[in-house]
Amino acid sequence: MKKTYFTVGPSQAYPKLEQYLNKAIEQDIPSLNHRGAEFKEMFKETVEDLKRLLNIPKTYQIFFVSSALEAMERTILGCAEKSSFHVISGSFGKAWADYALQLNKTVIRQELDTNNSLIDLDIPKEAELICITQNDTSTGVWFDPKQISKLKRKFPEKLVAVDIVSSVPYVDLNFVNCDIVFFSVQKGFGLPAGLAVMIVSPRALKKAEKIKQKGISIGSYHNLLNLSQKALEFQTPETPNVLNIFLLNQVVKDMLKVGIESIRKQTEEKSKLIYSFFENHDKYFPYIKNVKFKSPTTIVIDVKGESEAIRKTLSKQGFIVGAGYGDNKLNHIRIANFPSHTIKNVRELLSYI
Ligand SMILES: *Cc1c(COP(=O)(O)O)cnc(C)c1O
Repeated sequence: MKKTYFTVGPSQAYPKLEQYLNKAIEQDIPSLNHRGAEFKEMFKETVEDLKRLLNIPKTYQIFFVSSALEAMERTILGCAEKSSFHVISGSFGKAWADYALQLNKTVIRQELDTNNSLIDLDIPKEAELICITQNDTSTGVWFDPKQISKLKRKFPEKLVAVDIVSSVPYVDLNFVNCDIVFFSVQKGFGLPAGLAVMIVSPRALKKAEKIKQKGISIGSYHNLLNLSQKALEFQTPETPNVLNIFLLNQVVKDMLKVGIESIRKQTEEKSKLIYSFFENHDKYFPYIKNVKFKSPTTIVIDVKGESEAIRKTLSKQGFIVGAGYGDNKLNHIRIANFPSHTIKNVRELLSYI
């Protein structure tokens, strides 16, 4: 039976993935020299198209790394000499803070529950970098991107780094108010894992330069400065995931054709369907109550300990949804709402619950 993956990552493959994989083989993409003209052209095109799709300022650079977790580490090393501040709304934000601690930074953690607001945060003077998981996939807590902009305007001297792994391309972020933003491709883009994109401001690069000049490590084979230098030549320091960059290039071109506004509208329609179904259910209900914090893209449902039974029933019909994260494994199901999921998929999924 053909399965539909509503898991939060990896998730349902992009509908034309098979076609583009075949195209990659036909065009000898796996054998392409990563210092050659063809690769450079592909790098350049992918960067330009991503900038158009997500409305990224021209002055920002785009780097390719291997995962979002790697991007977290590069961000800490490049942007925090001594101290980083972490807004924590779930396990991914917590992991990011833990990495900073392992890199010997002074880590200031702020758990944010859904009664508070980002803009009310009190951030100490010593924190150089604010790390925000805009959509924490473990809990389904979403921060309004406008709040991130306001926070940056309140603390303009601090760098702001934002994880948008499970909300891209839906999230409409004002990049001008962010210094580093990153995502990996196995969620909203429906591609195989093993590639992440970092979007980096000139301010972040300046900071990395300053840290390096003090003799403090900003990373080895990948750091913000050598990634930047290589990106100016449309290359990466190491041999990158050329196949995945090719695939991303294809998908982004398709998304540009469809238009980001229409992708966002569809995401909202599907999210409304899912939330209203569970708001009217007599037993299960959305885990996040405050509407301002409800993720449109990774929807967490409290199913009163019936997670395994529901997942089994759905799986028999060919629908795979995620279990709860960590301690909530049995209490929650998690449903992804990415561009690869159609309205028809969603209606059918809900009909089996
Ligand atoms: C999945 C996920 C990550 C980790 O992504 P990798 O590509 O596995 O490193 C980080 N942050 C969030 C919010 C995620 O959902």
